[in-house]
Amino acid sequence: MDTKADTIDTALLVGGRFEPGQEALEPILNPRTGGLILELAEASTAQVDRAVAAARKAFESWSRTTPAERSAALLRIADRVEAETTGFAALEALNCGKPINAARNDEIPAIVDCYRFFAGAVRCQHGAVAGEYLAGHTSMIRRDPIGVVASIAPWNYPLMMMAWKLAPAIGGGNCVVFKPSEQTPLTAIKMARILAEELPEGVVSVIAGRGQTVGSYLINHPGVDMISLTGDVATGKKMLDAAAKTVKRTHLELGGKAPVVVFDDADVGEVVEGLRAFGYYNAGQDCTAACRIYAGKKVYDKLVADLSSAVSSIVLGREDDTENEIGPLISLRQRDRVASFVERARELPHVEVTAGGTRMDEGFYYRPTVIAGARQDDEIVRREVFGPVVSITPFSDVDQAVDWANDSDYGLASSVWTRDVGRAMATAARLRYGCTWINTHFMLVNEMPHGGIKQSGYGKDMSAYALEDYTFVRHVMVKHG
Ligand code: NAD
Repeated sequence: MDTKADTIDTALLVGGRFEPGQEALEPILNPRTGGLILELAEASTAQVDRAVAAARKAFESWSRTTPAERSAALLRIADRVEAETTGFAALEALNCGKPINAARNDEIPAIVDCYRFFAGAVRCQHGAVAGEYLAGHTSMIRRDPIGVVASIAPWNYPLMMMAWKLAPAIGGGNCVVFKPSEQTPLTAIKMARILAEELPEGVVSVIAGRGQTVGSYLINHPGVDMISLTGDVATGKKMLDAAAKTVKRTHLELGGKAPVVVFDDADVGEVVEGLRAFGYYNAGQDCTAACRIYAGKKVYDKLVADLSSAVSSIVLGREDDTENEIGPLISLRQRDRVASFVERARELPHVEVTAGGTRMDEGFYYRPTVIAGARQDDEIVRREVFGPVVSITPFSDVDQAVDWANDSDYGLASSVWTRDVGRAMATAARLRYGCTWINTHFMLVNEMPHGGIKQSGYGKDMSAYALEDYTFVRHVMVKHG
């Protein structure tokens, strides 16, 4: 695909109409170079009003379509995305700096599968058994759509987060006003063309703009019934404030700081291979990134040495993008934020930066970094860095490992590495995280739920559980005779 600025869609989808944003221009940058791709005008409040009004109107009929009709629409959307894999991948790679192979071979197929999964799931929902729970009365359970959903997405996987939010919401019979991140709106805007052609008018609108302007106006809108956010914890709290005013439903996928517990009997080669991939994929800008390692004392030294050497071989910043394994960070601000975490850690006497720890000259790149000897109370162990930075901390026994792993504000993802199945299961059972992987990390499938506890938020993406989150349970009771 040609990704020259004048070939990129910039029109917002407001109700059934494509139109330019009416407010300030936002620069959209190429993270590989720092250069400007284009400027995009953000939506006005009047445009948000029209999008919400169109969604409310569309809800009257969309909520009464059959699961089969909504399933067919999702399947058509999936086919269209698949047919345009090359174009979507190129645009995502341009806007986010992702290696083209990651966008094309990892992300787009998973996105297509997400729409297809929900096309199937919406036709086979399960529930309690209808029956006579009071003599002379028959009770049944319905699952009905919630209404108009304000969907707000982050910048790390723009098109995938859009799929995770749209597919269960519209599959469940809701209408959506979708706002991508102001930093990465381009694939969502391209996607709007497909959505406008495959869905009735108003079922989905795609508006662009900053969080504090367009996003804030949207989530506070009285015509919105539910807010769905994937983003930062602080942003999640703003959603809760907004929701409190009219008691809107909320679905919050917030940050993470995934602990990785490596026992002494783990296969160090496999751990290193796993961490090299799962700690640094998407330049570590992933809420499940394997970033907080706890290693048994017997494997600790070997793990630090082998991981540091493996991480130093991660390929990035090459002219030929097909060789790159990871890309840059999304922005200069994010790159400098990551660098400042590493600088503060480096000043600690017990810490050693054993790989990376430096910026690169071009664009927003930061070298993959390993921080050895970090302690439980160190900032680098406690706070989400959201960059290619992994810390390693030695532990002395299983209780300490579990205590430290659980001692976090976050509760999204975790992993346990050991050859002992019993130890793996016993440890997994004690971890307070939405997901625990054993001898792997990071693997997601559309059939299984993704979501956290604690300040990682609540509500599930992917799986039949997401469909439950975007519908609500109703009791209908019939009196006989
Ligand atoms: P962010 O919270 O800054 O922005 C996310 C979205 O919220 C953007 O679209 C932004 O415009 C919008 N927003 C910001 N302030 C708003 C406001 N006041 N009102 C309405 N909308 C507002 O997050 P980000 O920097 O784009 O993404 C990184 C964060 O997302 C990380 O913390 C990461 O862990 C998290 N994340 C979580 C998951 C998950 O599944 N749990 C997945 C991906 C990213």
